[in-house]
Amino acid sequence: MKINLKDTFNKELPADSDLSNTRRQVYNACFSFVTPRVPSKPTLLHYADDLAETLGFSKEEMSSEVFLNLVSGSAVYPKTQPYAMAYAGHQFGNWAGQLGDGRAINLFEMLSQNQRWTLQLKGAGETPYSRNADGLAVLRSSIREHLCSEAMFHLGVPTTRSLSLVSTGDKVLRDILYNGNPAYEPGAVVCRVAPTFIRFGNFQLFAARKDITNLKALADYTINYFYPEIQSEGKEKYLQFYQEIVNRTVAMVLHWQRVGFVHGVMNTDNMSILGLTIDYGPYGWLEDYDPDWTPNTTDAEGRRYRFRNQPDIALWNLVQLGNALYPLIEDIASMEQVLNSYSQQFDSQFPIIQQQKLGLAAEYESTFQDELTTLLTTSETDMTIFYRNLANVVKTDTPDEALTKVAFAFYQPDKIVTTLKTSWLNWFELYLIKLKEEQLADAERKAAMNLVNPKYVLRNYMAQLAIEAAEKGDNSLINELYTVLKKPYDEQSEYEKWFAKRPDWARHKVGCSMLSCSS
Ligand code: AMP
Ligand code: MG
Repeated sequence: MKINLKDTFNKELPADSDLSNTRRQVYNACFSFVTPRVPSKPTLLHYADDLAETLGFSKEEMSSEVFLNLVSGSAVYPKTQPYAMAYAGHQFGNWAGQLGDGRAINLFEMLSQNQRWTLQLKGAGETPYSRNADGLAVLRSSIREHLCSEAMFHLGVPTTRSLSLVSTGDKVLRDILYNGNPAYEPGAVVCRVAPTFIRFGNFQLFAARKDITNLKALADYTINYFYPEIQSEGKEKYLQFYQEIVNRTVAMVLHWQRVGFVHGVMNTDNMSILGLTIDYGPYGWLEDYDPDWTPNTTDAEGRRYRFRNQPDIALWNLVQLGNALYPLIEDIASMEQVLNSYSQQFDSQFPIIQQQKLGLAAEYESTFQDELTTLLTTSETDMTIFYRNLANVVKTDTPDEALTKVAFAFYQPDKIVTTLKTSWLNWFELYLIKLKEEQLADAERKAAMNLVNPKYVLRNYMAQLAIEAAEKGDNSLINELYTVLKKPYDEQSEYEKWFAKRPDWARHKVGCSMLSCSS
């Protein structure tokens, strides 16, 4: 296996001079060298062929022992020196101090298709940043991360990628619900891939310690390699950097709201400096449309990271990033302008996305949208199915006919009688008036809507079925879901069974509606 290595990260940013992996506070360094843990019986369960191709790995290479050694942590690739990064962050709104890659280890940077890529193992053992945890990951969370990263990519949502899923053959102790019932689970390692895994928290660490030299070094490095379009110098350069991060973060969150993705742990250490969705933990997809839903049981009380809060939380996180970058910019008024542009961008773009989801090119009154949100919520409507089937409505439909076409999306169809039915018919009456005014013919509108409203998303129950099968040694569902989710906007009638509401058994099941940070 021949990899086009780039080792500029190691050369340009300060490394921790302590080479041990003992847990500690690390100062004056962006990262610490570490060695991945060698698993006892690594087995490649799945790899993303499409990403492998992007990285320039052939099919033969992917099934080679060299590849398994690389992505399981069994052997360090020649001439490379793996490392874990130092970062800090706000968790659930509170300052948490130094966190860092507690179980993520960057293997190396490489070049493919004119793009820099970092390969990172998640779950490959302890690092100086492991605090009181073990540096490992379990199979269930690794399957979830592997499948969802790739599903999000194919949905067109900016995200880190996942190249491979390896079971380690080692047992890992976890208390899934944090209720005093720890149990051993199979361990796994995922090989994540992104241009860089630098987070808001990497900058926050240095700012909190008033280490301006390293704050600047990290910003210069990030701009140089990942924001090469920024050509200005001095304070203007960092201000522009901040603006670009704001732009990319808005774009990411708009995509989340479009497809109904709930991240679950939007802590500042889980915010990518490139505006990529990162750290797939207790995430979920809006099924019965509840804007107040969070999949994360750890957040059940405050619901800080509920679906409808995501845009505001991203902004809150950007404010924290602003505080961290302030020493490089020192211009409050300009930074406020950058922050204001977040809401301006969101407020101007979100209605357009909502219009696209409804297949309406012409603007409409906000009450029409609000009424729909209320109806979707009170009727327990499956978000994905509703929007997808809405595309089947035609201009000549009666409100009754239109309602019938989306009825499959209702979790309790019997409830859609009397009041709710009348409200739905009123809404569809307005919708049909708007449709008739649209230029596009029904078929063209349907095609356009199907490009923004996915047919298939990785519902938690789907991931859970794949997990339960894999825990019994059957990986066929991982393969099947990976294949379906590669083309989420295509009909794929052979996979129609995955175009389904969450089954009743999954309603209150651990892993489906209840997910903790335990992974
Ligand atoms: P998360 O909630 O996954 O974003 O993780 C928050 C912090 O805890 C990060 O610094 C992680 O690296 C660290 N962490 C989470 N799980 C583990 C683990 N099993 N071992 C070591 N560190 C961990
Ligand atoms: Mg994290």
